[in-house]
Amino acid sequence: MILVATASGPVEGENAIVFGPVPSRRLGRSLGINNIPAKTCSYSCVYCQLGRTTQLITKRTPFYEPERILARIHEKVRQCRAKGQAIDYLTFVPDGEPTLDVNLGKEIEMLRPMGLRVAVLTNASLIDRADVREDLAKADLVSLKVDAASEPFWHRVNRPHRSLSLLGILGGMRDFSRSFKGELISETMLIDGVNDSEEEISRIAEFLKDLELRTAYIPIPTRPPAEKSARAPSEQVINLACQVMSTSLGRDRVEYLIGFEGDTFASTGDVETDLLAITSVHPMRREAVEHLLKNANADWDVVKRLIEERKLIEIQHEGHAFYMRRIRSRN
Ligand code: SF4
Repeated sequence: MILVATASGPVEGENAIVFGPVPSRRLGRSLGINNIPAKTCSYSCVYCQLGRTTQLITKRTPFYEPERILARIHEKVRQCRAKGQAIDYLTFVPDGEPTLDVNLGKEIEMLRPMGLRVAVLTNASLIDRADVREDLAKADLVSLKVDAASEPFWHRVNRPHRSLSLLGILGGMRDFSRSFKGELISETMLIDGVNDSEEEISRIAEFLKDLELRTAYIPIPTRPPAEKSARAPSEQVINLACQVMSTSLGRDRVEYLIGFEGDTFASTGDVETDLLAITSVHPMRREAVEHLLKNANADWDVVKRLIEERKLIEIQHEGHAFYMRRIRSRN
């Protein structure tokens, strides 16, 4: 799993076990834990920023000694605290799939005395196993990858190990969602022409509706992917995905991630900055933009200028105008 941030590229060895902290919209300042050697995964996603999977496996295995991982984290946390750097989450976000590590649950338990929240970003491919659900249940926050809800799209986007079953995975996510006491989020990476049809997005939204999600995120590839052909969809498609998912889940539970991690939601008092911050996460309807401008004693010229500067884009959807921050990777 890769989405909050990773060590720079596929690297091996103890030095790469801990990295960061890095800013993340979802997790604040996140200290990354790389508990899997590159690139060991049960998927070989077309968009993976670590390249193609070299060890495509589903067998849970011990990789690094949990005590060594813990020692590296202790050292890094001590360094951060000495520099006054805050850490909001210790996040398992390795160069592969974190639940392949058979010691994941033990490692989370060993981190507990540090008093920091623990997150796991998983592709959820092993979540039909009770032992994996038990390990994930120990975390404070779990992120599930749901890039597809039907077999053909799942194969095209995630290229799973042949022993995996999508039905089992979706069922495992439902079971986990019912029992998990922490915060659950999901990530649906949209790839141009691969899993971004309205039908598949609707199926994904229907599935997500049954999960107890805090937020369903819609990221797009913003870093070089495993396959050059894996590109971000257009702003129109992302807006459509947001509208479809918002209809199922509620607007407040859907956010896109288009390469502006770390932007703040807090009003800055500067209408241009606020408009760009909001539209980097949600599309805004024209009426909402007008309301924002009115409250700031500003006029529509702000929007016109941002469109001219290619920072904002206007999209028509079902008779309404929406405004979105322009995607950098498509410029
Ligand atoms: S789940 Fe996909 S994106 Fe995550 S590490 Fe595996 S191949 Fe890469």
